[in-house]
Amino acid sequence: MKLEGIHHITCITEDAQRNVDFYAGVMGLRLVKKTVNQDNPTVYHLFFGDEGGDPGLDLTFFEYPGVPPGRAGAGMVHRIVWRVASPEALGFWQRRLAEAGIESELGEAGLVFADPEGLVHELAVLVVPDQPLIAKHPEIPADFALQGFHAVRAFSAAPQTSAGLLEALAFEPADGGGWEARGDSRGGLIYYDEPPPEPGLQGAGSAHHVAWASQPREHLEWRQRAIAGGAQPTPEIDRFYFKSIYFREPSGVLFEIATIGPGFTVDEPLEHLGEKLSLPPDFEHLRAEVEPRLRPVRNPRGG
Ligand code: ZN
Repeated sequence: MKLEGIHHITCITEDAQRNVDFYAGVMGLRLVKKTVNQDNPTVYHLFFGDEGGDPGLDLTFFEYPGVPPGRAGAGMVHRIVWRVASPEALGFWQRRLAEAGIESELGEAGLVFADPEGLVHELAVLVVPDQPLIAKHPEIPADFALQGFHAVRAFSAAPQTSAGLLEALAFEPADGGGWEARGDSRGGLIYYDEPPPEPGLQGAGSAHHVAWASQPREHLEWRQRAIAGGAQPTPEIDRFYFKSIYFREPSGVLFEIATIGPGFTVDEPLEHLGEKLSLPPDFEHLRAEVEPRLRPVRNPRGG
């Protein structure tokens, strides 16, 4: 039993429109679901994905208008590593980001840049067997498109404290001090880095949690394994698009284990994903109250 890499990564934005303009416009991802935060249904939860809205490329944001900028510190994800196909893709992104006014640095690791709110990304050329997950964008050739998540990098002052839980969750040590969860179809990693001296701060441009992908039939077994590894997971929560458990790993990073499916087509057809405000059945009765409070967002892709 193995986790199938990263399911999604959830972060915080202060401004949904700027967020959509950057991720659906500049980065070429598809806005695959526009819904509300189920733990606070007065704020948006935006999901950016590949064309099919698949686990493995699913970057999500809660919008908290007016929230001050965050700062990654110990126990927080501070960098998201994405796969791209080739060194030529890195050159393409360096030019495209520059045209959008985003500075980037091409180094040994890959192309590193921050989004308009300071969330750091790295695009890396990696040889993996995983099927590329890409979205269509008229200005981005498919050969250069983002292909899915490879890893998260988190800050930890004592990364060895996380080893036992990661082993209980069948992660395996990887090159460079990382830990890999690799299943039958996909893999993803977590790396730990020395934290800065200042404590972290949840806010705009910071990561909230990382979710690992589980086969639906194995989900409750993963919960038992998390308990056996010393974690205190929540009960299984039905998020409608997937089922989830949450727990903090010993370095302090908030982990989720989310099921692969049922997925984003459960309430919208594939060709119209993300166009309307989707409210899961348990939240539909709040539509008249919450929809007027959410600032409308214009999707550069249309819809
Ligand atoms: Zn999540």
